[in-house]
Amino acid sequence: MHPALQDLWSTVEQSTHLVFVELITDPKRCSNMAAETVVEEADPAGRRHTIRLRLFIPAIDRAYPGAQEPQEGMEFVPFAGLRHETRYAKVLGHELAHVSNMLRDPGYLHLVQEICAEQHAVAAGVRSDGERLSHTALQERSSRIWRLVLESEKPALAAEARIYRELLTNK
Ligand SMILES: [Zn+2]
Repeated sequence: MHPALQDLWSTVEQSTHLVFVELITDPKRCSNMAAETVVEEADPAGRRHTIRLRLFIPAIDRAYPGAQEPQEGMEFVPFAGLRHETRYAKVLGHELAHVSNMLRDPGYLHLVQEICAEQHAVAAGVRSDGERLSHTALQERSSRIWRLVLESEKPALAAEARIYRELLTNK
């Protein structure tokens, strides 16, 4: 009934990798983020990565349903017409698209890991040699991270848009 979503789910499920899906309902563990995908352990041989995908249910329930203008180049796929489980399915599809890309393409996995490492470095305000980053250096790194984020989001947003149409037509 939802071929795009099912394809992603079975690609991930039938892989050799360890992928956890967590549904977080405790509002104390949630921010405004709908979901996240974390690479907990990357297998250098590429056989068995450990990846954890979390859906933050209260944030998804609260998400504004209508169309939104892209912000700093980031597109939004609306929630309009979807309720509860179908909202979760749309967000799950987005995260599964990230995961299936990571499993298929080592370059994409590397991109996601680089974003994560850079975000930590900027949050800590230090370079890898321990030197504190200047304000300008922080800004430069932040805008570089954003370009990487936009690149990594492209395939996930495309999959999410396909799944959104599918969920709307096959309720
Ligand atoms: Zn994403």
